[in-house]
Parts: sequence; C-alpha cells; structure tokens
Amino acid sequence: MSHSAPTAVTASSTSSSSSNSPSPVISPVSRPRSVERLVKGQATSDGAGVKLIRVLTQDLQHRLDPFLMLDAFGSDQPDDYIAGFPDHPHRGFETVTYMIAGRMLHRDSAGNEGLLQNGGVQWMTAGRGVIHSEIPQQDHGAMEGFQLWLNLHSSEKMQAPWYRDFQNGQLPQFTTPEGVAVTVIAGSSHGISGAVTRSITEPVYLDVHMPHGTRFEQQIPEGHNAFLYVYRGEVTVAGQTVPLQRMAILANTPQSDGLVVEAAADAKWILVAGKPLHEPIVQYGPFVMNTKDEIIQAMTDFRNGRLGERTE
Ligand code: MN
Repeated sequence: MSHSAPTAVTASSTSSSSSNSPSPVISPVSRPRSVERLVKGQATSDGAGVKLIRVLTQDLQHRLDPFLMLDAFGSDQPDDYIAGFPDHPHRGFETVTYMIAGRMLHRDSAGNEGLLQNGGVQWMTAGRGVIHSEIPQQDHGAMEGFQLWLNLHSSEKMQAPWYRDFQNGQLPQFTTPEGVAVTVIAGSSHGISGAVTRSITEPVYLDVHMPHGTRFEQQIPEGHNAFLYVYRGEVTVAGQTVPLQRMAILANTPQSDGLVVEAAADAKWILVAGKPLHEPIVQYGPFVMNTKDEIIQAMTDFRNGRLGERTE
C-alpha cells in the first residue's frame, strides 16, 4: 500500500526459510496475556483509490512498536481494488504483504518483479529507498489480504533494499493434533521456524485457522508488543470475545509467556508480535525515519530521483 503523501510511501537483513512438516512441539503457556483493548480500524482508501481498512493507525505506532501500520483489504468488487498502487517510494522500514486471495504484481526500482497470489507473502525491506508499484492482475473475483509495516532500527534504515516472494507452498506450515492449521510467516511457532527472521525486531507473524471447538497456544516473549486480528468467525482470548474484523491489542502483562485462543466457531486470525525499538518515529507518508531532517532528506532524494537508485 502506498500511504499517498508526498506523491506516495515503504524494505535489510537476512532470512532463513525452513522446510514444511516436522511434527509440532507443544509449548505450553502458563501465564497467558489478556486483551487490553479492541480496535475496529478505519475505512480509508490509498494508492489509486483502493478501499481498505487501516487496522493499525498512526496513533498506535508507539503502543505497537515496532509495527507502523496494518491494512486489511478485502473485496469482490473490482472497483474497490482495480487501480492498485502505482509507482510510489518507501524508505526506512519493511512491508510484508500477505495475499489471501487474488493476484497482485509487484515491480520495483531494485529490479525485482514478482506475482503475489493466493496465500503468498512478499517481504520487502525498503531500507534507504525503493520505488515500486503493486497492481492487481485480475478484473473480477475476490481480492483479500493484509499489508503490515515493520519498522527498522536506526542503524538499518539506510541499508540496501531486500526483497523476497514466498509462494504459499514455500511457507512453513503445520497442523496441531486438534486440527488447528498454522502458517508461520515470521518468527516461530511450536518449534517450526518461519519464512523470515529478523534479529532486532524479532517479529512473529502467524496465520491461524481454527476449527470450531479448538484451542491454540502460542508463546510470545514477555517484552514483545502483540496483537491479533480476526478475519473469519470470532475467537475468545482470556474470557474476552474478539469479534470478526477486530484487532485485539494484547496486554503486556509482566511475566506473561504467551497467548491462549479458543474458537467456539470456525475462525481465522493473524497474530503479529515484535520487540519494540524504543526510538523516535517520524513518519511522512511513505517515509518513516527517526528525525525531521531525515524525512526532509528522503523527500529531497525522492525529488532528485536518487531514492530508488541501485547504487549511491
Ligand atoms: Mn508500497
């Protein structure tokens, strides 16, 4: 998504992918987190008029540090998505796009191109700068997914861009004995390592599909900020119902060790957790830096055609 501001908005490190299907290790949670608050998100549009729900809005950037934004998009009306996100820049953070349904073509100034589709993930580290486009490759049918923005530590904001596509079959997945199906996009779950790991922000990003009457436990480090978002059905967390299309911000309870979720009906939700950076956040549209001067530099570089240069 672009977060249109100057004319537009968002990618460093290493990754490891692991193979599917070793049997999951049970990791019991004894002090689960509760729900601090439920958030509905804001209906908005971005790019060239794509309708979406901004679930994680700018006012939550400190509370949910290192996460800067979460957009949920989902429609079977082509007018809601067809124009996509034409060329726009990003600097200073990472974008993670998870496409549940539909097809979107990505092209960027670093020379990358990839088709994101049905259950695939694109992880892009903008670093010092990327100009890219994200354009739907369909004129009918459903398009649904999420774009998450993950901040970079000040020491990584100006690193070279990095990019990788994962087709659905390349993402580590497992099913618990109860039948809960989990895709591990980042971090680890029940001993299964995710597609991407990051050493500073230590993100955990899971997609969890629960049949009715099941329970799921996930360890989350005590200091991580964490939230879940329900996109089918509803779930219960520590006695609190989390309805459809709501984000539950999980309390940073001292000495908590994770999350326990129960589903009375079939449900699907994503879990996002990460280690806070505790650094100043200055955002201007598609640029997220630590100071105003760095934002002015980003705008100057963009204006001078230097933001998406392959070498500087
Ligand atoms: Mn973008």
